[in-house]
Amino acid sequence: MKIELPPVISAFFRPELDSRVRLFNLLAMAGIVISLLIVVFSSVLVGGLQIAAISFFSACLAGGLLYYSNTSGQYQRCYLITILVIFFAGFALLFLAGGAYHSGMPSFFIFSILFTVFMLEGRKMFIVAALEIIFYSLLCLYAYSVPSQVVWFETDEEAILDIIFGFVTVSVTLGITIHLSFHLYNSQQCQLEQARKVAIQANQAKSLFLASMSHEIRTPINIMLAMNEMIIRLRAPAEIAGYAARAQEAGRMLLALINDNLDVAKIESGKLELVEEAYLTDALVQNLVRLGREQTGNKGLSFAAEVTGLPVALWGDSLHLRQIAANLISNAVKYTETGSVSLSLTGRTASDNSGIMLTIEVTDTGKGISRELLPFIFEAFTRSEEARNSKIEGTGLGLAIVRELTERMGGRIAVASEYGQGSTFTVEIP
Ligand code: ADP
Repeated sequence: MKIELPPVISAFFRPELDSRVRLFNLLAMAGIVISLLIVVFSSVLVGGLQIAAISFFSACLAGGLLYYSNTSGQYQRCYLITILVIFFAGFALLFLAGGAYHSGMPSFFIFSILFTVFMLEGRKMFIVAALEIIFYSLLCLYAYSVPSQVVWFETDEEAILDIIFGFVTVSVTLGITIHLSFHLYNSQQCQLEQARKVAIQANQAKSLFLASMSHEIRTPINIMLAMNEMIIRLRAPAEIAGYAARAQEAGRMLLALINDNLDVAKIESGKLELVEEAYLTDALVQNLVRLGREQTGNKGLSFAAEVTGLPVALWGDSLHLRQIAANLISNAVKYTETGSVSLSLTGRTASDNSGIMLTIEVTDTGKGISRELLPFIFEAFTRSEEARNSKIEGTGLGLAIVRELTERMGGRIAVASEYGQGSTFTVEIP
């Protein structure tokens, strides 16, 4: 059942207000109601006038603080005034004026300590709550040692009535407060969950759009590259062949970029599927060696490949495996100006005898990776300052794709590198 509050009151519980502020407003309202009830109730008790005066003052103060905090936004200041004036001074006076520990006041002491715990934060909360506990304990001891300073109830009926009034009002107020806090927490959790679902859907839609756009763009680029290839092969005049070669280079770069985007979008939208089948290891090795030789040859670097312990055939996703190794080789060539790049493929029996553990290692004598960049190297869009400022083309997506593919295959990737000392990337795939 949903209770509709009048607009004047519901304004104090607007969802955009901080949950503590709403709680303060609730407790201040409860304070006004309780204090006014005590004013009425005290007329039948001993020391009634004094109690009524203090309670009336408390009701006015709670109303004033409610108004001031909501118009000025100075909530912390209002919490502290409440604690100092009402919980320390006001409650001490009420305690001594209305039956001390033979009254409902100890219930209100619990209320004030809980209010402090709800409203204050961190060290301030611990200190004030501890001070309250000590202060209220000392008050009880004071009333016990100097009973002449206490206005005691004249009859047991009065005391019992006050005790019942105390615990009923405190339990109702605290009950409502705690219930509302849980309600608030639950509805905020629901809203967060809703927002999370919307964000995931939006992200998936974006990835899907990116994937289909990249896919669509690939077809015309491939046609343009093929047409360009035709121009080069048709022995065009040197000037035109030069233009075509540059178009070819730019087209390849664009294709690589689109391919990286497509991979990332596929991974993000959960559309990347591994296709596992038996494959011939020799075909994979030959392919990678050819790629390594070609790329290092274009840049005047030397290339070495070493193959150890590989069986004739293996089970796995050879296409993505090739993509991992090819990315690492391309990077090694890209970030090496002089020296060599080496590739090593090793097959070992897995420690739990479940099959062969394939290790791909790509080492270069290039720039290396700085210590600051190393921990973030596998995150998307991470590039060294040097790579970003130099003419080296790249998106910062290659290694993120390599890591994602490796992990999807149940493997792991590691890098050992120091700035200026070359790098070694190691991928282990079961
Ligand atoms: P990209 O090469 O497109 O920038 P990558 O994700 O493949 O993106 O690599 C991220 C960054 O890691 C590169 O920009 C480069 O700074 C660094 N890096 C990758 N491989 C090497 C390497 N073999 N040697 C030195 N730096 C590397």
